[in-house]
Amino acid sequence: MSNLLDEIEEITLMGPGPSCIYPEVYRALSLPTLGHLDPYFIQIMDGIKELLQVVMKTKNRLTIPISGTGSAGMEACFVNLIERGDPVLILINGVFGTRMKDVAGRLGAQVDTLEFEWGKPIDVEMVAQKLKDKFYKIVAVVHAETSTGVRNPVAEIGELLKGKETLYLVDAVTSLGGIEVATDDWGIDALYSGSQKCLSCPPGLAPATFSERALEVILNRQTKVPNWYLDMSMIAQYWEGKKRVYHHTAPINMLYALYQSLYLIVEEGLENVFRRHQEMHQKLVAGLEELGIKMLVDPPYRLPQLNAILIPEGIDDAQGRAWLLEKYKIEIGGGLGPLAGKIWRIGLMGYTAREENVNKVLEALGEVVNQK
Ligand SMILES: *Cc1c(COP(=O)(O)O)cnc(C)c1O
Repeated sequence: MSNLLDEIEEITLMGPGPSCIYPEVYRALSLPTLGHLDPYFIQIMDGIKELLQVVMKTKNRLTIPISGTGSAGMEACFVNLIERGDPVLILINGVFGTRMKDVAGRLGAQVDTLEFEWGKPIDVEMVAQKLKDKFYKIVAVVHAETSTGVRNPVAEIGELLKGKETLYLVDAVTSLGGIEVATDDWGIDALYSGSQKCLSCPPGLAPATFSERALEVILNRQTKVPNWYLDMSMIAQYWEGKKRVYHHTAPINMLYALYQSLYLIVEEGLENVFRRHQEMHQKLVAGLEELGIKMLVDPPYRLPQLNAILIPEGIDDAQGRAWLLEKYKIEIGGGLGPLAGKIWRIGLMGYTAREENVNKVLEALGEVVNQK
């Protein structure tokens, strides 16, 4: 029997995630596995917490990676904060806001939504109006809508919530490590991310943080968290408590990988990392313009790390992407929902956001356009 792994080719990951992996992160994955209660491993856990606090711009003590992908982070935030019947407002302008609604609804929350056109940002004025009508226990929004490439006004929505009892829950899966995420300054109470977007690790971890207020809500629940695996009060005892009580076996080598990627980001400097994403984005957009390719999103709301382009006329969606993959070994993403067949999504996330990749994708797209 042949080993399928012998045939894996390296693909330049320029879609909506996973992104290209730092070489140092691959090295971290191959280091010797330690026990999950090994004293040296516990030092690494503490290191991860500190690095996450820097990257998330927070002083929250409960700042840890959840075992699972970004969606596990989403589930962890909602399942710990919601009790049956709680009023929750979800702001939706893409796939991931829609997923939040599904997750909150399954937990028996009383879910209200404000929905906006896909490709347009959340309208802060409308949120302000909505908040006048009713008290919400939680307001939830996606910072970087990966399905459309829109940056939502998370800081401005946070301003509306300051001084209110409402908890502010933010999806930073695609934003963290690509654009600024200022958890404390923006008044965010619960925030989750994912390892495989701008952190350039493999998928499998969801860094998350909870404010003291959120923690209080969790510790004073009337009912048990209805999901054993994601119960933060138990997980916190492993990550925070002096006794390091076993909950589930931590994914040791993935945690090395996360430590390494956060280390690299902090070493490069957050501002430098954001500037690199912005510069690569501008270079990409300039090249696309030369090819006559148009962007979906208006300039002020564009995410540097996720560029949604209108599929050039006369080009078949699936065929075009298959050709990029076969000939250039580049993966880009297709559109989802109402944007399926209309857009392609070019990711410049983390280690992917480098000049050689921008040049490569522009060259390949040039051929696609001229070939039709
Ligand atoms: C990718 C993504 C998720 C889901 O993460 P998974 O790792 O696929 O579970 C959630 N929200 C946003 C904004 C994302 O981009």
